[in-house]
Amino acid sequence: MKTFLSLLTLLLATLAGHAKLNVVATLPDYAAIAKEIGGDRIDVTSLAKGPEDAHFVDAKPSFIRVLNKADILLEGGADLEIGWLPSLVANARNSKILPNGSGHVVLSENVKLIGVPTGPVDRSMGDVHPAGNPHYAMDPVNGKFMAERITQVLSRLDSANAAFYQSNNERFALRLDQKVTDWKRRLEPYRGAKVITYHRTFDYFLERFGFELVGTIEPKPGLEPSPTHINALMSRTKEQGVKLVIAEPFRPRRTPEYVADRIGAKMLVLPDKVGAVKNVTDYFGLFDYTVTQVETALKN
Ligand SMILES: [Zn+2]
Repeated sequence: MKTFLSLLTLLLATLAGHAKLNVVATLPDYAAIAKEIGGDRIDVTSLAKGPEDAHFVDAKPSFIRVLNKADILLEGGADLEIGWLPSLVANARNSKILPNGSGHVVLSENVKLIGVPTGPVDRSMGDVHPAGNPHYAMDPVNGKFMAERITQVLSRLDSANAAFYQSNNERFALRLDQKVTDWKRRLEPYRGAKVITYHRTFDYFLERFGFELVGTIEPKPGLEPSPTHINALMSRTKEQGVKLVIAEPFRPRRTPEYVADRIGAKMLVLPDKVGAVKNVTDYFGLFDYTVTQVETALKN
């Protein structure tokens, strides 16, 4: 009877109040941060799955139905989703998530981007970072700016729960500050270590924790490597004492393994986002895992 009454109370409260905000994120990272702020008072879905390349997500027709019901769309921006998102949004028939709609959020607007080109960029040449590097979620400090923006939009569209969102945001920022201090302390002994990455996915992480990126397997973001590029990369970095060659889980391993082997570095597969590897299920876990992997690889 008691259970029945509490269920009834919950039902009446739901009917009297309003439905939960339905938040759709393009990537699991944005969904994970939204979850930290909204808790069980919002519904959150990510379109991309953790193991996918964020630039080339498989745009399933079912995404259109998901977007049609969204109150809020969280996108990374800086052209990260330009290859797959705009046509989905255009077909979703949902004015809330159109550019300038009440629930359309471009998270890059709250972040200082690195790698913004100073000259003209030709996308036909394969550069998928024409607006600067869009992988800013890999700096945990940027997580605070993203959370701040998400808190603003949740509070605006669901003012009844604004105090709840704001207190979650404060707690999230505090916990992140403490974790960043800890992650920095653990990686401090390896400051200045030289690394090569497959794509410019980890630039923000490397900059935050004091590593030096000396080259990439890709000649340009989004362009597959040629043997000429790989040979030039190896001869340029062979004598530099490069410690790590880092690739995301979805990349082919052969070339980065070959390069690592030839220049005497270690090959490391690191998650580029939440869900990219097993057990990385939230935003803190993304860095706990990454820091541990880097620390372990450099310790020996
Ligand atoms: Zn990229």
